[in-house]
Amino acid sequence: MIPYGRQDITQTDIDAVVAVLTSDFLTQGPQVPAFEQAVARYCGAAHAVAVNSATSALHMACMALGLGPGDWLWTSPITFVASANCALYCGARVDFVDIDPRTCNMSVARLAEKLEVAERDGSLPKVVVPVHLAGQPCEMADIRALSQRYGFRIIEDASHAIGARYRNEPVGNCRYSDITVFSFHPVKIVTTAEGGMATTNDPELARRMARLRSHGITREPEQMTRETDGPWYYEQIDLGYNYRITDLQAALGQSQMQRLDDYVARRHEVARWYHDELADLPLALPWQHPDGYSAYHLYVVRLRGQRGSHRAVFEDLRRLGIGVNLHYIPVPLQPYYARQGYGMCELPEAARYYAEAISLPMFPGLGAAQLQQTAAALRAALAA
Ligand SMILES: *Cc1c(COP(=O)(O)O)cnc(C)c1O
Repeated sequence: MIPYGRQDITQTDIDAVVAVLTSDFLTQGPQVPAFEQAVARYCGAAHAVAVNSATSALHMACMALGLGPGDWLWTSPITFVASANCALYCGARVDFVDIDPRTCNMSVARLAEKLEVAERDGSLPKVVVPVHLAGQPCEMADIRALSQRYGFRIIEDASHAIGARYRNEPVGNCRYSDITVFSFHPVKIVTTAEGGMATTNDPELARRMARLRSHGITREPEQMTRETDGPWYYEQIDLGYNYRITDLQAALGQSQMQRLDDYVARRHEVARWYHDELADLPLALPWQHPDGYSAYHLYVVRLRGQRGSHRAVFEDLRRLGIGVNLHYIPVPLQPYYARQGYGMCELPEAARYYAEAISLPMFPGLGAAQLQQTAAALRAALAA
């Protein structure tokens, strides 16, 4: 089965991890700050805080922004559940903004309408989480303008989008947001096995997140509330977690970062190949907003007027050895959310997306033969 995504691990990566294994620090050593600096430098952000997953990064980002009971967080329904769950971890409530049918990202028009209504109701969100689906940046300048008008904070869920660019600047520089979050799960663009990072330009948010990742504890005298008792002294200032990433993972991350631009370039080659090869099929191919340069984490096609059902095409592709997937089941349809009364009534574009979308294999190591096999299988499945 050709998977939809797969990591690329080289001897250089292996050597970097093995070197840490025989060093003095397996965790809380020099590799974590070095990895943070590598990502911050790449993105052009002032600060970066590495953690053990993007889920942890979303949680601590929400906490650092003061999200809590009585607050609302809004995100896209077409995302991984973690983009919404982070609000619930903080005791806040979550709501969903329908997608733009072209980009499949949160629709700026729907967001603007929903904000207008919420302003009248007194239920404006405290935090909005735009998700750069498939690696394509959201329309951040427009979302930023709305945040200034309505006073919400912005966390970019860039789990798919390290290496992407918006208006010719790297995603993660937080020009249009408070915090940007990346994931380093093996299917994502670069990997640390499990891992995540939050970037920000606000030194106070960076300090808070660094504390929250490690029990809310600080050893920095300037953050302490009392005089030191002695050289052993540290203070717990907030209620934090153990969200730390290890030095082993951070070494792998640094090694992977060296190849980030090559990875994204190769993903664009694969996308161009699909684009040419699939042009005559009854499919909508991924539309690209002219302001963005996608990281192409995913290549999502949508069925158009085919004879068989979405599910039948999907099953045929799997039978033909193509590990297609669906990113994502709309979050409000998950039983946990449905049980609390969420549904798709106000999300017609997300519902349509769920009835049509198929993620084709997309990763840098995808070979010519695998691409040919995927295109042939798709052709056969659509003709069936
Ligand atoms: C993968 C993913 C996450 C969670 O990432 P982890 O590192 O696995 O916690 C969050 N949001 C989106 C959009 C993702 O794709």
